[in-house]
Amino acid sequence: MQAGASHLWLHASPIQTLVTQADRRILVEGRGCRVTDAQGHTYLDALSGQWLVNVGHGRAEIAEAMARQAKALAYGNASRAATLPAIQLAAVLAHLTPGDLSTVFFSSGGSEAVESALKIARQYHALRGEPERYKVIARRGSYHGATYGAMSASGSRSGVDSYFGPLLSGTLSVSAPYCYRCDYRKTYPECDVYCVDAIEDLLRYESPNTVAAVIAEPVSAACGIVVPPAEYLPRLREICDRHGVLLILDEVITGFGRTGKMFASEHWDVVPDIMTLAKGLSSGYAPIAATVCRQPIADIFGGANGKAIGHLLTFGGQPVACAAALANLDILQRENLVRNAEQQGAYLLSRLHDLASRHPSVGDVRGLGLLCALELVTDRRTQQPFPVDGPEIHYLLEKLAELGVLTRAEGNLYLAPPLCIERHEIDELTGIVDTALSHFEE
Ligand code: PMP
Repeated sequence: MQAGASHLWLHASPIQTLVTQADRRILVEGRGCRVTDAQGHTYLDALSGQWLVNVGHGRAEIAEAMARQAKALAYGNASRAATLPAIQLAAVLAHLTPGDLSTVFFSSGGSEAVESALKIARQYHALRGEPERYKVIARRGSYHGATYGAMSASGSRSGVDSYFGPLLSGTLSVSAPYCYRCDYRKTYPECDVYCVDAIEDLLRYESPNTVAAVIAEPVSAACGIVVPPAEYLPRLREICDRHGVLLILDEVITGFGRTGKMFASEHWDVVPDIMTLAKGLSSGYAPIAATVCRQPIADIFGGANGKAIGHLLTFGGQPVACAAALANLDILQRENLVRNAEQQGAYLLSRLHDLASRHPSVGDVRGLGLLCALELVTDRRTQQPFPVDGPEIHYLLEKLAELGVLTRAEGNLYLAPPLCIERHEIDELTGIVDTALSHFEE
């Protein structure tokens, strides 16, 4: 094969597409909120890579911690012995996560963390003598991962069933609390958050003692940064408790400060039974994820001498990845980046509202902390969306890149920069978005 003509499988929305290197910018370096490509062009990274570089690019402390651990011990015998970084990281996660979330199962990415959560939920019920509780309820439009279990519980069927079906049986979906396009044609607050009561209706219809878990993101990124009404998550917690169903909150994107609190569920004081974590756990410096369970779940498994989770992953808790996560969490806390996300996020949202008042293509502005989106419409009155992968959206993304911003857009333009972003960088970012939207609307 000729030099430069090699093909890469790269991620492209909505499905994997074979593309050549020439189709993509090749990024070679990053510092803080900026990345540089092979041609020397520098961009503001408005998506933190893929919603994950929370502490910013180019953190030498993390690289050094990884090198130290790789030199000391790159791998331990996962089934017979633990390693120090894994023990330390589990302790840090037990401390950081709310309530009695305390027992940690490590894996290498968000899909595996979700897969583990689904299996733990089913095995938990089976160990309690209720093996018929196997169904999982997810929300429509959500995304929980690419493996079969996670994909089946993702509540997004378009472009999936036709290629990969039939999916895992017993996965059901309900509408998300997406007020801008409410599936029930209701309006908040008159609706009294009907969409969460719809979950209880579905549970009753299915017979609650057949349902293992409800899975949801506290703020759904894939749905378009859907921040639920205040009542939604507390009421979902009550519904799950009433019917003995486990609540899995997927904080793969929202965890580690992204929404201005360490975990998004803390905005509503809701403690899930199982929390899934990945991305910001290492800020992308190493592939690592965690599934954190509440004490009563761990008790059913009976700890180290009891029933093992029927699931072992070679790279779960790999010590170099744990060392990266520890160094990353140290920076996150030492530099008060969660507080910075809260403050800069509020400022970013105010700038985005200002843009919306001047740009007719912006139908809605949503966000919490540094997890924001502009929903783009061809007509505000009809709320007609742009085709997800259409030429208009491609044009907008190219215009943004030309002006120095890399991000992602489908029906929404996503803005989720690293948590170390400063006010002047938000001014620069929103200034560029302003100019790009003016071109887009010409
Ligand atoms: N859960 C959520 C909420 C996600 O957004 C993603 C990926 N973006 C995943 C799970 C899967 O994570 P991964 O790509 O690391 O497997």
